[in-house]
Amino acid sequence: MGTVVRNAEYTKEYNRKLVLRLLRKNPVSRAEIARLTGLTRASVSLIAAELLEEEKIKELRPVGGQRGRMPTPLAICDDAGYALGIYLNRDGCTAGLVNMSDSILAQERVKLEEGSKEQKLEELRKTIEKLVQVSGVLKEKIWGIGVSAPGPLDGEKGEILNPPQFNLWHKTPIGAWLREKTGLPVFLENNATCLARYYYDSREAQDSENFLLLLVDSGIGSGIISKGKVLKGSGYFTSELGHISINYHGRPCPCGNVGCLEAYAAIPNLLRGTNFDSWRQLIDASKSDENAREIMRKEAEYLSAGVISLNHIVNIDTVILAGEVLYGAEQLIPLMEKQINSQALRRESQTVRVLPGKKIEGARILSASNIVFSRGLIV
Ligand SMILES: [Zn+2]
Repeated sequence: MGTVVRNAEYTKEYNRKLVLRLLRKNPVSRAEIARLTGLTRASVSLIAAELLEEEKIKELRPVGGQRGRMPTPLAICDDAGYALGIYLNRDGCTAGLVNMSDSILAQERVKLEEGSKEQKLEELRKTIEKLVQVSGVLKEKIWGIGVSAPGPLDGEKGEILNPPQFNLWHKTPIGAWLREKTGLPVFLENNATCLARYYYDSREAQDSENFLLLLVDSGIGSGIISKGKVLKGSGYFTSELGHISINYHGRPCPCGNVGCLEAYAAIPNLLRGTNFDSWRQLIDASKSDENAREIMRKEAEYLSAGVISLNHIVNIDTVILAGEVLYGAEQLIPLMEKQINSQALRRESQTVRVLPGKKIEGARILSASNIVFSRGLIV
């Protein structure tokens, strides 16, 4: 009997979160919720009544010009919950406080250029305090802190492990530290996985069975969403495409491997020894400079080699590019698509598409805070 009650409670909680998850991105009518979730109309009405009573959702005015009674859209209440998002990367750190409808209420660039690790962590704590103060949000309404950082990391322990070129943060139990200082739950995930989940939750590439978010900037990050879920290896590892070798007699990589994709395709590594200081400068020059075009072609080759290897293990059908390479992506993408679709083993039966990641204002902070909401809305 106890099991039956527990199962019923679990199912109820699961269905409530399912509805909240759906409404977090867009207003949807009761009938549409039933259609999208497979719940009965009666169940949806009951759940909606409860969530309305708790002021977690609200009814909007019916829209549309057709005759007859229009369905009433339901929407999430902005103040149903809040999350803090911290995006930590090699080029700096930004943090923000976000409401349930993905509006950033306050944000700060965290000054981490100088000082010891302890001083930097203290700077993070002060920033969090300031964000809560400036936004005027009650701390008990904040669900937690999402930290997005370069991998590899241990998401379960909340520890940054040994990301190359990120030495100061090696072996930092940032989750436990922040939890102790703020009293809030902390969730740590790698930059690319965060962005992958955020794009997917924002209805990007929803028709894709397996999509890869390929983050190309000072490093190479990768996140794979397979059938709607983040693909994880055993233990705490998510995918680290940047550290598969594309040349086993090649350049040594700080990770310990040889010829890693990141050792060639991360922007600083690509441009080392050239006349170009940035990807943007390279793309601008490529309009008239054959040398710049050749370097860009090389980048397409490196990235495609990584995607092809991955495609032979996980059947990737869509690649979404993010990071610095979005500038001039219309030149890079056809080169990548051509190479991938002419060399991948499945080329006869499947075409891999490469898309530029949609530019979303505040995507760094939003993708980090999204970890909190997405964890809070699963059972
Ligand atoms: Zn490596």
